[in-house]
Amino acid sequence: MKLDAKIPSGPVQQKWDKHRFELKLVNPANKRKFDVLVVGTGLAGSSAAASLAELGYNVTVLCIQDSPRRAHSIAAQGGINAAKNYPNDGDSVWRLFYDTVKGGDYRSREANVYRLAQVSNNIIDQCVAQGVPFAREYGGQLSNRSFGGAQVSRTFYARGQTGQQLLLGAYGALMRQVGAGKVRLLPRRELLDVVVVDGKARGAVCRNLVTGKVESYAAHAVLLCTGGYGNVFYLSTNAANSNVTATWRAHKKGAFFANPCYTQIHPTCIPVSGDHQSKLTLMSESLRNDGRVWVPKKGGDARSPDQIPDDERDYYLERRYPSFGNLVPRDVASRAAKAACDEGKGVGPSKLAVYLDFRDAIKRLGEQNVREKYGNLFDMYHHITDENPYKVPMRIYPAVHYTMGGLWVDYNLMTTVPGLFCLGEANFSDHGANRLGASALMQGLADGYFVIPATLGGYLASEKLGAVKAEDAAFKEAEARVDAEVKALLAVKGKRTPTEFHRELGLLVWNYCGMGRNEAGLKKALARIPELREEYKKNVNVTGDAGNFNQCLERAGRVGDYIEFAELMVRDALERKESCGGHFREEYQTPDGEAQRDDANFSHVAAWEYAGPGKPEVRNTEPLVFDDVHPSQRSYK
Ligand SMILES: Cc1cc2nc3c(=O)[nH]c(=O)nc-3n(C[C@H](O)[C@H](O)[C@H](O)COP(=O)(O)OP(=O)(O)OC[C@H]3O[C@@H](n4cnc5c(N)ncnc54)[C@H](O)[C@@H]3O)c2cc1C
Repeated sequence: MKLDAKIPSGPVQQKWDKHRFELKLVNPANKRKFDVLVVGTGLAGSSAAASLAELGYNVTVLCIQDSPRRAHSIAAQGGINAAKNYPNDGDSVWRLFYDTVKGGDYRSREANVYRLAQVSNNIIDQCVAQGVPFAREYGGQLSNRSFGGAQVSRTFYARGQTGQQLLLGAYGALMRQVGAGKVRLLPRRELLDVVVVDGKARGAVCRNLVTGKVESYAAHAVLLCTGGYGNVFYLSTNAANSNVTATWRAHKKGAFFANPCYTQIHPTCIPVSGDHQSKLTLMSESLRNDGRVWVPKKGGDARSPDQIPDDERDYYLERRYPSFGNLVPRDVASRAAKAACDEGKGVGPSKLAVYLDFRDAIKRLGEQNVREKYGNLFDMYHHITDENPYKVPMRIYPAVHYTMGGLWVDYNLMTTVPGLFCLGEANFSDHGANRLGASALMQGLADGYFVIPATLGGYLASEKLGAVKAEDAAFKEAEARVDAEVKALLAVKGKRTPTEFHRELGLLVWNYCGMGRNEAGLKKALARIPELREEYKKNVNVTGDAGNFNQCLERAGRVGDYIEFAELMVRDALERKESCGGHFREEYQTPDGEAQRDDANFSHVAAWEYAGPGKPEVRNTEPLVFDDVHPSQRSYK
């Protein structure tokens, strides 16, 4: 199938304005005739739902959590980028655009990235107007700090709780609309199928997670804002509820899945400490503003860090990348940490860790200043490890953190199913093969506050959409299918819990499709995943029943989807015979160990098309054209 990204013509700076002008509008009085279903209440979903209701649409919102405020976005720590150039250090919309295309290793769509940079400044204004308590300078100006892959300070933050504060802003806007009767909020619902009528998305079927009832919701358009799938690896920094179910099931209804192999491994997480851990904890990238990353020069050095003098330490990021130092992008920093540990220089009990050291920052700035900037992150580290990072260096190691892959969307954020839109981390997004720090919050809010209000209107004004009701046959059939799937899971009564399967799958994809991938390993994973899938059908043990709150059942559905999805992720990694960003194929690297792209053969988005049960997925491509930022070997030296 030929993918049409619907990129507007003309210079990149004018595309979005021109497009907004050319999009048809829904008359204000007609907006109340349209029902919109928004799935997810993270930053993307809450901002979209609030903005659409404010415009006059009737919005229904579903989410898994008991409150929209508990969406995974609340965990975001470090900050949100915008090109305000408050520090006067040379930033601009163009520089943010350039850094993001380069940071994504030239695997993102230029037009989308430019729009993202353009609206970044509006996001800050919007959030400030909502009362988001961004950090400020003494004189009242909003403060900025630096994040990886940029040589300017453009990250706005609220201590280490930026996601929480932004989500409270969006939640406030959402609840205003709930109060005004324009948003119907349905928490504790899990979307289990997208309903397509006459080729267009017209609603969804979900399970009420408290009563177990299968329910249908009809709409004129559906927005999936359901977050990323990093938990396919079992251990990740994502919230336990983050999952692939909504996007995977939409995929089976015709939405192409783009670049599923692009996973972000974040360099600064608290290292794994044992077999029974179910979560990993991020230490925000903002810490690399002042923390210095090092390992002992000598492999197997067991001295405590304070006993190792400076000339016996290898500050390897500063040594290898003098221009960007500790603030190289995440993919580069993660691989460098792995390389140091692979050479036997890892520290701590597992030897799979490197130091993030604040000794010099505390000397330079004073402990109080460091506490003011990062206090809650230091406290979190102290609570988890029982080590005081003001006194001893933190120990960190890379962990799965974000997924750049997701449902393929065009410039309007519409998937290959008309009327089905996808926003935030759930879409394949603007980040190419590697996301720069502080740009996920920017993208989620750009999609929700600024892009979808324009593009959804364009769709609704252009289509003839007949009346559809939740009582129609299409919904009843989908309900029956979902009900049968739930009952089938409960009926297996096997010997292994969903968590045991998930842990095995996670380790498999981490080992073979994680920080480094190679053909032999990927083929090994591809051989094992179908076996695991078959075993799951015969041997999973789901306790409890369907008629009430049952987290084992919820997990079972999600793990089943992860097993199916993992096969596509690994196939995508196998087919992409190059290294780019977070996708590091060991066979394709430069002599000094950097990712070696193959622009001649892989400068495209891979968008996978579901072909039916048991049939191999079809790989479609969207060529990437770079008119403004010309691809080169990414260098942070
Ligand atoms: C620890 C941590 C720190 C981070 N820090 C930063 C940072 O400082 N800066 C930055 O830019 N990014 C950061 N990120 C990334 C960023 O937080 C996420 O990418 C972003 O918040 C995702 O927002 P979202 O709205 O797309 O999805 P989410 O916030 O994940 O929300 C998904 C929503 O979908 C709902 N949902 C999911 N599946 C279903 C279903 N089947 N049915 C119904 N509802 C469903 C959930 O209930 C939830 O409401 C961080 C990530 C982590 C893990």
